[in-house]
Amino acid sequence: MTVRTRFAPSPTGYLHVGGARTALFNWLFAKRHKGKFILRIEDTDAARSTEESIQAILDGMEWLGLTWDEGPFFQSKMFDAYRAHAKKLLDAGLAYRCYCAPEELEARREAALKEGRPPKYDGRCRARTDAPDKPYAVRFKTPGGGATSFADVIKGHISFENSAMEDLVILRSDSTPTYNFCVVVDDATMGITHVVRGDDHINNTPKQILIYRALGYELPVFAHLPMILGSDKTRLSKRHGATSVMAYKEMGYLPHSLVNYLARLGWSHGDQEIFSIEELVEKFSFENVGASSGVFNPEKLLWLNHPDIKEMREEAIAPLLLPFLKEKGIDAGGDARLLAIIKTLKERAKTLRELSDAAEFYFAGKVSYDPKAAEKFLTKEALPLFEGLIAGLSGLSEFTEAKVEEVFNAILNANGLKLGKLAQPVRVALTGGTVSPGIFEMIAAMGKERAVARLHDAAAYMKKG
Ligand code: GLU
Repeated sequence: MTVRTRFAPSPTGYLHVGGARTALFNWLFAKRHKGKFILRIEDTDAARSTEESIQAILDGMEWLGLTWDEGPFFQSKMFDAYRAHAKKLLDAGLAYRCYCAPEELEARREAALKEGRPPKYDGRCRARTDAPDKPYAVRFKTPGGGATSFADVIKGHISFENSAMEDLVILRSDSTPTYNFCVVVDDATMGITHVVRGDDHINNTPKQILIYRALGYELPVFAHLPMILGSDKTRLSKRHGATSVMAYKEMGYLPHSLVNYLARLGWSHGDQEIFSIEELVEKFSFENVGASSGVFNPEKLLWLNHPDIKEMREEAIAPLLLPFLKEKGIDAGGDARLLAIIKTLKERAKTLRELSDAAEFYFAGKVSYDPKAAEKFLTKEALPLFEGLIAGLSGLSEFTEAKVEEVFNAILNANGLKLGKLAQPVRVALTGGTVSPGIFEMIAAMGKERAVARLHDAAAYMKKG
């Protein structure tokens, strides 16, 4: 059997981290078993589905690397299939036409509630033999007795009394199909072997199982994932911080960190915290998915992002960093110094946004000095040292970290000074402040032209001093 999983979002908003985790687990399970991962957009609710939301979901999945093998399929384009299946059930006597008007249904519902009865449809059109010339909905005949049970891969044995379920509308009176019906028709006709979704759908599963059986389709395996919670153990929402996948992209997270984090949210493999994508694919199984909810912790995500950036090659970071620099008006795409610059900063940056903030000084036209730092370090006394440094650096034909260090050492030795005496004023001259990456690597990464020009500017400032 080829494993076939699917992610079936309703396009009514951005891609939520909870949805992304559902997509990821489906994707991992399909990859793990060399199966197929299918993307299906559940856009039957025309009023709530939007093009922007479809695009946002596709963008989010692409950014995370959750590539799909088939689709995207759109439910809005498959109404004929749902209607054909409804007809099949009608013909087999497993569904019936319900002519009750919405107002009648509502009135009966209210009366039932008032009398303390369950407000479910009373089945009065079941036995109808006439066919009035009125709009009708199609209802599925839910068995009145017995129970519908299934073995959920994550939650274990689950059973629902059939008497608690009403005769489900599968086609509304305007002949649009309803959610539970579309899902079954699609999952069955798309050959989905494993339905992996949030446990907010667990109440739908018995209804869907009954429809599968009525249509004569084989049941898939069900795996219901526990919800993701916020820090206060309530369902994760905006109150707990960003919940949109793309917000994490904008904050400068790496897709791998988010994937790694989401995988660990509910799934574990011993004590291991950091996994490559290949490792996740190799190790993923539902046996290690917990039945209780995981708590979304943005700090932990940041904790993962930091080593991720540190370990990533500069060549891989560069294309991800460019858009952040562009936001600052810096077009670094053709800048030969970019990789060297990233190398000096990636150790300390927790996000790409932090990295771009830290990189800004390398690209700025002019440096503006922190007044306190300038007063303390850009003094007349330091001027001769700067002149020596300008001469030494200008004379270098090879502008490497080691060569820059040699120039420094020569000046320090000649003047009997320690590195700090020269390094701090130079830092202020080159960056505007007193904190920077290691002085030699920073100067080498900045490049001769820019470094020397800034030293000249600082020397002019000192003279005025
Ligand atoms: N469209 C449903 C949702 O976005 C998912 C349906 C399913 O996975 O069965 O919640």
